[in-house]
Amino acid sequence: MRLVSPLLKHAIYPALHQIGWLDHIMPPAGYAVVNYHGVIPSDYSVADIFLDGNLVQPEMFRRQLQFLKSHYDVVRPEDFRAWIEQGKQLPPRAVLVTCDDGLVNTLTDMLPVLQSESVSCLFFVIGVSCGDKPGMLWYEELYHLMRARPLDGLGLGLPSEEGTEPSGSFQARWWSTVRRASRLDARARADWMGLVRSHCDGMQVLRSELRSEKRWRLLNIGELRALADAGMTVGAHTLSHPVLSLCSEEEARHEIRESKNDIERALGRPVWAFAYPFGNSSTMGEREVALAREAGFACAFLNVEHWRAGPANFFALPRIHVTVNTTIPEFAAHLSGLHARLQRAVG
Ligand SMILES: [Zn+2]
Repeated sequence: MRLVSPLLKHAIYPALHQIGWLDHIMPPAGYAVVNYHGVIPSDYSVADIFLDGNLVQPEMFRRQLQFLKSHYDVVRPEDFRAWIEQGKQLPPRAVLVTCDDGLVNTLTDMLPVLQSESVSCLFFVIGVSCGDKPGMLWYEELYHLMRARPLDGLGLGLPSEEGTEPSGSFQARWWSTVRRASRLDARARADWMGLVRSHCDGMQVLRSELRSEKRWRLLNIGELRALADAGMTVGAHTLSHPVLSLCSEEEARHEIRESKNDIERALGRPVWAFAYPFGNSSTMGEREVALAREAGFACAFLNVEHWRAGPANFFALPRIHVTVNTTIPEFAAHLSGLHARLQRAVG
């Protein structure tokens, strides 16, 4: 959605929305899946759009749910599962609501909106949320630590990337480091993060920059159980959220399969859905699709609206990634499939 041109966003979609044209188009697959990454919690204001832009304001989240309820048929995750596993037909214009990562704000600030709108959401959480001290997403923590102090020689200890090192923006250097650190296994990556933390006087950085725990911390096991007990469905999103395509096959298999096992053990219920971390063609591919199938999931979700041409694949289900800047007309254009069609048409 970040690539939507200003003309579409500010002129064409609002005009089409106003005349109601978008509301009559069927999503191309007959259904659509929307994906969130949490809401901006009440004790936090947006500081850096690069990371914060993945969350939405709670009022906008409510408006989007209300839009879905008035124009689509919002289905429960279990209805979606019955369609996948038993072929039970979905209603026309079915929409499934999902949310990735399992930040604390999903329980404190997002769940109340879902409950008051009577919408059931499929949450994809990572294995560390099955423990007492999950911390934050390692690549978000790395972003803040690198902002506080350049890594200097610490990056040299990471596996190298093919091609040249990015010399451009801070974000490009950070993403290159995330990719390189994803080549380590989870334990080696955690050790390396420990070195970065002490190099950057990490606790100081986290205390001063990341004041809102609800914004940054991942759910712990008690909070994850509370989310499940509130009637929400929980899926798996790997153990530690690496770039899967850069992991060894053994590590990728372990990240996918053991996240299913750990969450099932922790919640005492089957975990049937998986979402690929980052979820686009530069972070996952056919190998990950095969591993998700092998792990015993019923389906797996992308974080993009189009992956590659070919027959529908339950292990590469497209999703609409909603961001803080997504307006209602833009939301409608994505749901109708118009946006994806236009993007494909312009290449
Ligand atoms: Zn994620």
